Amino acid sequence: MTDGLLICTPLGFEARAVRRGLTSSATTVLRTGYGTVRAARVAERISRSRYAQLAVMGVGGALSADLKPGDLVVATSVRTSGGARGGRPPRSDGADIDCPSAVLLAGELRRAGLTVHLGPVVTVDHLVRKAERAELAETGAILADMESAPLAGAAGGRPVAVVRAVSDNPDRPVAGIVSGGLAALRSLRKAAPAVERWASACASRDVLLAGPRSFCAGVERAIEIVERALEQQGAPVYVRKEIVHNKRVVTDLAGRGAVFVDELAEVPDGATVVFSAHGVSPAVRAEAAGRGLSVIDGTCPLVSKVHAEARRFAADGYTVALIGHAGHEEVEGTLGEAPGSMVLVQSAEDVAALEPRDKIAYLMQTTLSVDEAADVAGALRSRFPQVRAPGSDDICYATTNRQASVRAVAASSELVLVAGSVNSSNSVRLVEVCERAGTPAYLIDDASGIELSWLAGVTRIGLTAGASAPPAVVSEIVSALSGLGPVSVSERVTTTESIRFGLPKEVRH
Ligand code: SF4
Repeated sequence: MTDGLLICTPLGFEARAVRRGLTSSATTVLRTGYGTVRAARVAERISRSRYAQLAVMGVGGALSADLKPGDLVVATSVRTSGGARGGRPPRSDGADIDCPSAVLLAGELRRAGLTVHLGPVVTVDHLVRKAERAELAETGAILADMESAPLAGAAGGRPVAVVRAVSDNPDRPVAGIVSGGLAALRSLRKAAPAVERWASACASRDVLLAGPRSFCAGVERAIEIVERALEQQGAPVYVRKEIVHNKRVVTDLAGRGAVFVDELAEVPDGATVVFSAHGVSPAVRAEAAGRGLSVIDGTCPLVSKVHAEARRFAADGYTVALIGHAGHEEVEGTLGEAPGSMVLVQSAEDVAALEPRDKIAYLMQTTLSVDEAADVAGALRSRFPQVRAPGSDDICYATTNRQASVRAVAASSELVLVAGSVNSSNSVRLVEVCERAGTPAYLIDDASGIELSWLAGVTRIGLTAGASAPPAVVSEIVSALSGLGPVSVSERVTTTESIRFGLPKEVRH
């Protein structure tokens, strides 16, 4: 046997479907035979082979009608079960075999346009009927087959993936196998190239974590405000805009009863509304007061500080140039503090286009790139030598620290992954910092967003998270990478943070 990817397919028609989809002649497809006994026999040989990665591909029976024929299941783990025959409950034989990189492969398959479910697969030694499927589903498994567990067990410490295409489900059991099987085989064929990309991404790696990373004090405070409001007042609690710019955080809070709205008009009279960490303009506060809404202000105190500076400069007769990005909620809120006295500048070109002014000051959005903001501030100082600067840095400590730490990590990495959402300004800036340093960087909401082609040939990966991205996402990414080969994790800490902000009185107790 040789190094490379070995794909085990139990039956001939499954092997043919997979072979038709392959793009590389280096991949070996092995027909292993039907059922647990044959699979165990072949597994014994595979366990002694020199293949570098092992994938199991074939069709299988879904345990829920939510999974349709042709859908793919990527196993997060596989285990054997004696099934539930004769009124006995399902019997689990042996430990689960984990497939940590399943989330990466599932993301790749979804990007290829396939419908993919992630979850445990159970291997049984007989065909399962409808009632038994329900019992197996209660164990948490989402698909049953008759070969995956022994074959996957042969991987030992090597990377392993299990991809099964649904041929039938409890609503269309064995009688539907023929039509469902055709759909399943089509999906197997389409899945084969993604499995090859998964194998190409497998390697031993160093992962270098940037420190600090992930939640800042303002984000922790904003999330805690919504959580406490839900605890104290019960659902629903309305939140104007995303409480912080992160998909995971928003989805989680929405699942617990937070209702995110774009405008106050969507909040019922008399309800409680939380303002997001990015702040609001005085016009929004006035609207809420006029409507008699009960407001809890989640605005980060460091954003409120910029608002106060804008009011002070405007009251003193200054024109205030706000360095920031058009359309960002924080910028809209700050501009609203003194609409007649403020002007947005996004670049040195915008500065050049400003009318001459006697009294001019500048402020900054809190989440800008330190380097770019310095360029624009420099252009303002050249054009208006008398320009007043903010009393202290507007770009907040969290933004500054995360940019410094990712810059240090990028210098030692071939590639940097930044956990954060596309609408998160500080996360996008982290990507830009890496790119300015000459290191490719990608913004991902979670591990499923990692394209496997990015990882091919890359053995030193930097990893950080924007101020609104949960720490758990970083752990999940490390875990997923460990499914592609041994991972050595270290951390480069450029500074430590201890800042905490107090909660507003409405939710303090
Ligand atoms: S990134 Fe900075 S300004 Fe924004 S919420 Fe966090 S601490 Fe506050």
